[in-house]
Amino acid sequence: MTTVTASEAAYVVAALLFILSLAGLSQHRTSRSGVVWGIAGMVVALAATVGLASKSITATGLVLIAVATAVGAGIGLWRARVVEMTGMPELIAIMHSLVGLAAAFVGWNGYLDVDAGSHGGEELTGSLLGIHHAEVFIGVFIGAVTFTGSVVAYLKLSARINSRPLTLPGKHVLNVGALVAFVALTVAFVARPHIGLLIAVTLIALALGAHLVASIGGGDMPVVVSMLNSYSGWAAAASGFLLANNLLIVTGALVGSSGAYLSYIMCKAMNRSFISVIAGGFGTPAAAADEGEQGEHREISAEETAELLRDASSVIITPGYGMAVAQAQYPVAELARKLRERGVEVRFGIHPVAGRLPGHMNVLLAEANVPYDIVLEMDEINDDFAATSVVLVIGANDTVNPAATDNPASPIAGMPVLHVWEAANVVVFKRSMAAGYAGVQNPLFFRENSQMLFGDAKQRVEDILRSLDALDTPVREMAGSTR
Ligand code: NDP
Repeated sequence: MTTVTASEAAYVVAALLFILSLAGLSQHRTSRSGVVWGIAGMVVALAATVGLASKSITATGLVLIAVATAVGAGIGLWRARVVEMTGMPELIAIMHSLVGLAAAFVGWNGYLDVDAGSHGGEELTGSLLGIHHAEVFIGVFIGAVTFTGSVVAYLKLSARINSRPLTLPGKHVLNVGALVAFVALTVAFVARPHIGLLIAVTLIALALGAHLVASIGGGDMPVVVSMLNSYSGWAAAASGFLLANNLLIVTGALVGSSGAYLSYIMCKAMNRSFISVIAGGFGTPAAAADEGEQGEHREISAEETAELLRDASSVIITPGYGMAVAQAQYPVAELARKLRERGVEVRFGIHPVAGRLPGHMNVLLAEANVPYDIVLEMDEINDDFAATSVVLVIGANDTVNPAATDNPASPIAGMPVLHVWEAANVVVFKRSMAAGYAGVQNPLFFRENSQMLFGDAKQRVEDILRSLDALDTPVREMAGSTR
């Protein structure tokens, strides 16, 4: 077998491993094996690609590939080791930006390569040349949009810039205008390729990517992250066509379509229009009324919360981003265990976009060995709040904001939220009265049945655990003295 056929066969194996990886990642229990399949697929893909390349490049070229692989792998290992769980979305965003940049470079290289008359050693003519130029243009466009879009997403997610939506006058006209210009320039480029047209589309795509993501804000960023994931897949597929690399086409299409499907699921969960997201169309800024006078909030201590819990018959815990920041999942799991031992019904209510990653809360609770059967999705638990004695809102904010249902002017209006305010008592764990990720004040904090437990969530839950023990002590001592 020649190196080429062996490499092509290895590509089929790698593609199957990637499909197995996606299947594994779709479920909690199989996610670890999903990661292993993915790593194996990538090793096979890299080895096959180097094998293919070795046919046409010099020894120096191979050394350069080895150095680039070692440096890239080193940086990847280092970042993955040091990244906090809460920093994953921005790491993913910056990785997507690299995929976009690579696709734009591959497109540019495809143009310069043919211009120099050396497309893989063969001369391209007629309609093949036209197709090649269309691939170059589309690849550069998708790559550049993904690049700047991901950089802006990274800046927003890491709070380096404000997460509020940018609302330039006529923003839809700008977006549609950029798309129309892209189509017109593509036709012109295929008819008569010129470097000026390629420079123009690169600049338009860079501006469009930045504008699309900058104009999305509020609580809608999760959809943007998965949309960019999808764009990066299509950018890779476009590079695959240019490089005549089947594996890149297959892998890019897998990432592109699974990312698009995830975005669709998230849009449905957040009651947003899929088309609006692609068009960067929602995320209007908060109405002034939203930030108006909200009234007085009440505070509660850890001891008082422990008493409330001791007397409760049912408790629902709704965790959010703050639980992840505080790493409070372990004492929270301990609290759930203790309360259940006392006969209290304890369940967790998980909002689909709680935290900063799809499934973020499920991962943290699984890490702390909370049983799966008491962890319920929003739709499964939303009708039960009205019959619940105490809700503990641990570091959640936007996902429990009643303004989403009550205030049509709110930037998160229409987003389904956990109806925690329907419970008899709500205790909100946070450090201050600051707004959540969407930058919107939360009227929940000022409701009559809500009380604020200020401080780091982990420390406050540990305080409650101690108070519960202390509440138990006199009972045991009394029991002992009557024997
Ligand atoms: P939010 O981000 O709305 O609020 C988190 C709250 O945690 C804040 O109010 C903060 O208040 C509090 N907090 C922070 N640190 C601590 C701490 N150490 N101890 C106690 N409290 C703390 O959280 P939600 O999970 O409710 O909502 C997620 C938001 O993120 C949504 O708007 C969602 O759209 C967005 N998002 C989600 C993504 C996803 O895929 N899940 C991706 C990107 C964005 P304080 O500072 O006062 O302590």
